[in-house]
Amino acid sequence: MNILIIGSGGREHALAWKLEQSHKVKKVIVAPGNGATGKIDPNNLEEVSDFCAKHNVDCVLIGPEEPLSNGLADYLIKTHPNLMVFGPTKDAAQLETSKSFSKQFMKEYGLPTADFVTVSIENVKSLDCVFERLPWKNSVVKADGLAAGKGVIIPKDRAEAINATKSILEGEFGNAGRTVVVEERLEGYEVSALAFVDGISYKRMPLGKDHKRLLESDMGPNTGGMGVVAPVKVPDEVDKKIDEIFEKTLRGLADRNIKYCGVLYAGIMVVKNEPYLLEFNCRFGDPETQVLVRLLQTDLYDIIYSTVHQTLSKCDVKWSTKYVCGVILAAANYPKSGDKGSPITIVTNGGRVLCVTSMAETLQEAREHANEVASGIEFNGKQFRRDIGKSLETFTPS
Ligand code: ATP
Repeated sequence: MNILIIGSGGREHALAWKLEQSHKVKKVIVAPGNGATGKIDPNNLEEVSDFCAKHNVDCVLIGPEEPLSNGLADYLIKTHPNLMVFGPTKDAAQLETSKSFSKQFMKEYGLPTADFVTVSIENVKSLDCVFERLPWKNSVVKADGLAAGKGVIIPKDRAEAINATKSILEGEFGNAGRTVVVEERLEGYEVSALAFVDGISYKRMPLGKDHKRLLESDMGPNTGGMGVVAPVKVPDEVDKKIDEIFEKTLRGLADRNIKYCGVLYAGIMVVKNEPYLLEFNCRFGDPETQVLVRLLQTDLYDIIYSTVHQTLSKCDVKWSTKYVCGVILAAANYPKSGDKGSPITIVTNGGRVLCVTSMAETLQEAREHANEVASGIEFNGKQFRRDIGKSLETFTPS
């Protein structure tokens, strides 16, 4: 089997590392990759399709959201009927690529989520009235489309919420902000719930916790994620309700005749033991994946095969009971910009440079070891958090 992984980040590297362990896999190609691997533009559908033919690719795994939103999976299924394509179609990917679509979906199929309204450019002159009528006090403002993680604003008051909504509608994020979702702000703790989904059934991965802020103690600006720990232990009743979220989602997709194949990632906020869906992502998370592949004991190729062939319910997906801590080493100036070209033993190439993962019997050991390794890697302006997962070491969920 020759496998092509589309993408260029740590997530794709982690998937390649895991797939190379499978004796069923002959070759793993990562493209565009972050080194000297195949140079293709993942958003040029024809180019990817030709690449598959030329390199005898049997299976494609699509990492990032952008090619999914451009219909790469649809195109490859159409042009290569025998190719195994792991990643949802453009229709299915709307769960991530349009927040208004996904909120409507959640509402229609009874998925717990924050109350919301959607506004568009026609409402721009009456935003005062719109906000006046909201039945909640604190709002979160979200651009509808993909905005590289920057399209969510947590305003400090109503005036700031109105300004943020206005500037998004007026083009701050281009087309991604033609519609804005304004929702009730929830207070609780967040977990990342990922699952393999074949359209009929799903297999959950251990819960993870991402650390979005740049600085320790959750200070500083939001980033693509500065580190993850897994598994996160939640009460059984919360875990059951997370299962119900996946069950209802699958029923909703079937009801709409949308076949889903790939990873579905539910961003969840737990409020007084009730999990609320903040968002869906239609792919593996980065850096969640770097941590989760360390815990995965089953051959990833077998899981991909059964997901594509809708036999996931028969696949025994096993996870280690140990803990993994993944610490991101980011370049100077990240997340504003990513310093490129600084020497490490390799050469930096943008924002989040490396992810160090460590597996141990306890969270604390995993964190301490990951920090020790992260401290020993040097490059100009290196930034990393030493407290990834620390709050969970003494955390009792409620
Ligand atoms: P990502 O980059 O993870 O894909 P995103 O930009 O698609 O994120 P969301 O996950 O919807 O956006 O929101 C980003 C963050 O904003 C969440 O992780 C959470 O911390 C915060 N957030 C979103 N919605 C709410 C809410 N209703 N109440 C409180 N906080 C929220």
